[in-house]
Amino acid sequence: MLTTAAVLVVLTACGSQPPSIDAGTTTAVAPTVSPSPSATPTGSIPAPAQRTPEPTVASEPAGDAPSSLAAVPTTTAATAAPEPSAPPAAAPNPEVDDPASITVVVNKRRPLDPIDYFPFGLVLPAVPLAVQEANGLLRGETAAAVEDMFAAAQSDGVGLTVVSGYRSYQDQVSTYNHWVAQNGGNTAAADRISARAGHSEHQTGLAFDVGQSDGACTLSPCFADTAAGQWMAANAHRFGFILRYPGNAEGITGFAAESWHYRFVGEETAAAMRQSGVATLEEHFGLPPAPGY
Ligand SMILES: [Zn+2]
Repeated sequence: MLTTAAVLVVLTACGSQPPSIDAGTTTAVAPTVSPSPSATPTGSIPAPAQRTPEPTVASEPAGDAPSSLAAVPTTTAATAAPEPSAPPAAAPNPEVDDPASITVVVNKRRPLDPIDYFPFGLVLPAVPLAVQEANGLLRGETAAAVEDMFAAAQSDGVGLTVVSGYRSYQDQVSTYNHWVAQNGGNTAAADRISARAGHSEHQTGLAFDVGQSDGACTLSPCFADTAAGQWMAANAHRFGFILRYPGNAEGITGFAAESWHYRFVGEETAAAMRQSGVATLEEHFGLPPAPGY
């Protein structure tokens, strides 16, 4: 069957499951993944989104940012170093650092913290899966948005499927090792097509690979030309999703174009990026490019 074959054969930078280790739905929600469920998301991680992370500006200026604002009393502000190009990523920012944040930025230089992060509230959206054994679990708000989006596509005559949703740290360990083995132990080759564990957006429960209901071009570059691919490109932002690996951005995202990999960031961020024309999360949040590990 075309769909299955495509899923099995085609590689995806975000690390689609190799055939022999399809995550299935059995391991995904197993509480054994997280030794202390209650401690993982709430304990070691700074408070999620409710708290504004900036109340301590005075005591802790932005890391190594020019100290003009914080250190200089009131007089010589005019001599402030004119270096606005200093990396703004130095200061901790829960909005992009906290794995529980819907705008967390994960890439080859920004592993999840903790690296084996396990999202709470994974649910299976009530939408078609590409194949029966596909793992379609997603975080609650992401699943709800997927349901709304798929319904809208359906009313436009476009059938969508979920090819792959949440993948655990261990799933990704297996996936990555599979591709290393497939490439004769060449990790550089594997890195071009599969994320290392702890660096995959699929581990956040906020990302999924979308397919067309007839299985055309699943996880393949030609998906961009399908009705599903085009509908998603034109409409996903309305539901809070962005195309995470756009074309011509490998030097920033670390991966070549993936017209099927969508990431939930919320309607506000998706709309802002759409309006500004900024294509990557790294650029939107002023984070350094992550072409490699
Ligand atoms: Zn993906």
